[in-house]
Amino acid sequence: MMFLWRYFLFPGLNSRIETQKEEIVFFFFEPNSFSERHGCSDSPGLPLWRALSDTLPITTNLLIRRVDVDPTCPKCADCHENVFHALVLCTYSQLVWHELNLPTVPAGGGSFSVWLTFIFMNFSEGDIRLAVAALYYSWRARNSAVWDGFLPLPRRIKQSAKAALQAWTAVHHTQAAVADHTGAQADSEQHQNMSPKCYFDAGFMPNTLKSSFGAVLLSPDGAFMAACGGTLSDCFSPLMAEAEACRITLTWLRGKGLDSVALFSDCSQLCSYLSQECSIRSHAGFAIHACKALRATFHSCVVTFIPRSDNALAHTLATSAFSQTSTVYSDSVPPNSISALLH
Ligand SMILES: [Zn+2]
Repeated sequence: MMFLWRYFLFPGLNSRIETQKEEIVFFFFEPNSFSERHGCSDSPGLPLWRALSDTLPITTNLLIRRVDVDPTCPKCADCHENVFHALVLCTYSQLVWHELNLPTVPAGGGSFSVWLTFIFMNFSEGDIRLAVAALYYSWRARNSAVWDGFLPLPRRIKQSAKAALQAWTAVHHTQAAVADHTGAQADSEQHQNMSPKCYFDAGFMPNTLKSSFGAVLLSPDGAFMAACGGTLSDCFSPLMAEAEACRITLTWLRGKGLDSVALFSDCSQLCSYLSQECSIRSHAGFAIHACKALRATFHSCVVTFIPRSDNALAHTLATSAFSQTSTVYSDSVPPNSISALLH
């Protein structure tokens, strides 16, 4: 039915309809469709397209179909009932709209579809929701007058509309949050798959505190791009060596002009600290803080923990770097120490 209400509301202006407007109409006027899409239950409603196409079972329409009914409006008994009167113009409906305190809608044009189009085109998102909810409960009130001889106070319509909107908002926001999270996750995975991969590792000798690092950059499909390895200034812990290795690797990658990169480390502690907001008051903490600042300069820089067996390239490079007197950079041709490990 979606195409129907779109057609009646905005012929030629479909691109201006936003998702939330569709959702709110679904919620109240196509509840079965809404339940299928969102897995929540709701009472049966009134197909909006029937109101817009003037085929609601109001008294004048029933008379046209040769049903023997009194054409008088069951709510105000002042005049014959039609769709525009039933939902908008009736004294009772006017009291409902007054309770809602919504912006004034010109009643010119004389049809419900023109009136509703004005609301959808000019009201804020929140006011559109409230208006649609009020239409739904106004229609229920009208049916209650016909079948039960009972007309609720206009204030009750406002209360019911607001309560239903709260329920709708809870469902809608939950769905939106899940969709956002899934979207962000997919986006992150896509970046990771399309970015160059950088494996890095640190070497640390606890007796002498001598430390080293190795970093290997591969293309997204695993081809060698560049590598560097060298010694670090003395570190006081393996974590500090890993953090320093990370900092120097990020500086090297930044210098190569990379905007997105996927980092891999076999130090779970470092990966954990890099993903946390908390600060660590230690030498390692300073290096980790510098790593975070450097990471923030990339468009995408995801750090992933991998087992040491998967980090053989960087580990070998870091180990062999202990014997170097300066940092060695290799572009396009891999260093001898790791050439056998590349395939
Ligand atoms: Zn009336």
